[in-house]
Amino acid sequence: MQEQTKVNLLGLDRQGMEAFFTNMGEKAFRASQLLKWIHQFGVDDFDEMSNMSKALRERLKQVAEIRAPEVVLDQGSKDGTHKWVLRMDRGNNIETVFIPDGERGTLCVSSQVGCALACSFCSTAQQGFNRNLSAAEIVGQLRAAYQYFGTVHRDERRITNVVLMGMGEPLLNFDEVVAAMNIMMDDDSYGLSKRRVTLSTSGVVPAMDRLAEVTDVSLAVSLHAPDDALRDELVPLNKKYPIQELLAACKRYALAGNGKKKITFEYVMLDGVNDSPAQARQLAKILKGVPAKVNLIPFNPFPQSDYKRSSKAAITRFWEILMAAGITTVTRRTRGDDIDAACGQLVGKVTDKTKRTGRVSALEQKVVIPQGGLIGRMES
Ligand code: SAH
Repeated sequence: MQEQTKVNLLGLDRQGMEAFFTNMGEKAFRASQLLKWIHQFGVDDFDEMSNMSKALRERLKQVAEIRAPEVVLDQGSKDGTHKWVLRMDRGNNIETVFIPDGERGTLCVSSQVGCALACSFCSTAQQGFNRNLSAAEIVGQLRAAYQYFGTVHRDERRITNVVLMGMGEPLLNFDEVVAAMNIMMDDDSYGLSKRRVTLSTSGVVPAMDRLAEVTDVSLAVSLHAPDDALRDELVPLNKKYPIQELLAACKRYALAGNGKKKITFEYVMLDGVNDSPAQARQLAKILKGVPAKVNLIPFNPFPQSDYKRSSKAAITRFWEILMAAGITTVTRRTRGDDIDAACGQLVGKVTDKTKRTGRVSALEQKVVIPQGGLIGRMES
């Protein structure tokens, strides 16, 4: 019985950790110590926490635990992309992807098991919604990746950016996502700057306003269409929060952050669906007055998808029109598609992948035997 009521300290941000210690009658500064032990030193065992008295460690063991998701598969791609499958509480698996790019290393983190939003071009949508991840399970993805790379030292840091662009809609799991992002940005844990933590949303308008009240992480918005009729089809959430409302919320978010920060608009390039020059011009028109950057994402196919990726020529033409309209536009390079780690390909089912063992084994696939703990240890 007692097991079930233990607090998992992995998911507490500074505020949560301070409240936890204050409730125990302890000083709030313990929060800093715990954050460092858990996130910078990768410790799971209270007995390793040498700056806590034995009595305090015993009390902590009674009421708390540090329970991290378990790495069940880790897999490298030819292009340096790396994917982990993590087993979460209740037996769910989710996927986390690391994408190196020169000096930068981006970790793409999931916020839910499955997704409820049913975007027609996304493979996560095919599996429906299972549940929200806890803050521990969200930040646990970053911790697992750090443990793989072996250090959180700033100057040797491999993971410089985190994007909440994996499975799920982060703004429909608001509190847990915010706590996890707070931990990612805390100097006593991972110390990522708010510019380097990006939350991607399909456009949950009221939650975007709430987000501006509690944090100013970078915001990416999955737009994908320049008009409501098409966006209703691609992103059904648009029926609830149509484009004009969404863009107004984007402006408010940018203003709340001093107006210095641009919103990134993601636009998946679907052949013959949303990639015409007229649609590019329409997109430029609706983005007038919004502090915007556009990220064109070549569609990544998955089984059962009817869409096709736009041609190179169509993507270039689209890009040219946006650039000519003065909108900074980049085309995302497709990475990790040989291990099904590209945008929209994350499904989190290990069993499905076993059919393709022949293919992935050539790509230094490494199966980690679950032993009830995380692989490896971070050096302090
Ligand atoms: N629910 C959030 C975050 C997850 S999706 C959101 O919608 O923003 C992360 C990004 O990948 C989104 O821009 C999404 O539209 C895009 N994406 C989804 N499926 C894709 C696919 N098959 N090919 C390319 N990009 C895709």
